[in-house]
Amino acid sequence: MVNQLILTVTRACNLRCSYCPTAKDGWPSLSESDARRAVSMFSDDFGGGSIKMFGGEPLLVPDVVKAALDEAKDRENIRWVYLSTNGLGLDSSWLEFLSSYPKAILTISMDGRPEDHRGQRRAVNDGVPDSYEHLMTLLPQLLQTPRVVITQTIAPATAVRAAENFAHLLSLGFWRFNFLPGYYIPWRSNQLDNLDVAFNDIARLIEQRWEQLDRTYIRNLFTLAPTPFFNTGLVVDSDRTIHPSNVGLSGALDHTRDQTIIGTLDDPPSMETLQAGAARVSGLIETALPAKVWESTQAVDQKLSAFCRSLYPHWARYKRRRDAA
Ligand code: SF4
Repeated sequence: MVNQLILTVTRACNLRCSYCPTAKDGWPSLSESDARRAVSMFSDDFGGGSIKMFGGEPLLVPDVVKAALDEAKDRENIRWVYLSTNGLGLDSSWLEFLSSYPKAILTISMDGRPEDHRGQRRAVNDGVPDSYEHLMTLLPQLLQTPRVVITQTIAPATAVRAAENFAHLLSLGFWRFNFLPGYYIPWRSNQLDNLDVAFNDIARLIEQRWEQLDRTYIRNLFTLAPTPFFNTGLVVDSDRTIHPSNVGLSGALDHTRDQTIIGTLDDPPSMETLQAGAARVSGLIETALPAKVWESTQAVDQKLSAFCRSLYPHWARYKRRRDAA
């Protein structure tokens, strides 16, 4: 069953984050008509579901993002449209537009306290504004915007402070979160230990909030991916090729990308081809990655899964109490 369209609208980005595996240079971006074509194909031929727009940084091609949103708006079988961004392209009019768009889920990646956020998110050149400052200028409006999810990225070097960083993001007023430890990069064993401690501390903070009936939503509890970090589904890359997974985004897996192409926007795959391709992806990743990187990826993914498992009973209790209140 395919229930998501992954649109890599562009691979270009105005940041160079320390943990980012995405290969960015030398790639085209989708056009507005490509974005419309992808959405209509997903809706008409694959039964629809949700759409996730990723990059690179999608808001570097705002007209392409708007074209996809417009094409999806009135299609009954499109449930949600996720827009994942580093926030630099957001402004007041974007937030107004997204507030009035009934299917939008805005996902903004942040690292936590300004020193860690800035330390991990280097700008591609001096003309790029400070992304933390930029988001803080929009904070009052962001807090009023429906369905804003903060993806807290956790780098190996910042795992030791991840709980403090989470507390900082909470203190800003955000309450919907998604945790993203660095996948497809090597982690040292002490950094993995730090991640264990941090997830434990973050879980305690969340449990305390649920105990006090403070609203706190953790998206990781409701997502399941067969391959860590990458999304499976109908994946349209920025060069118009179609894949069953966006693993080809990773520079470390660039050399396997030809093996995952199952069609193009002009020559789309059948549902059967898509499903057969998805079944091959995990094995491909395992053999294509350096052993250390694959071991690290599995290790951080297991820690994230254990974190989620520890939270489920607390979530269920919170939900029961909230529903009864
Ligand atoms: S993590 Fe996102 S914002 Fe950072 S360099 Fe990669 S694509 Fe850009």
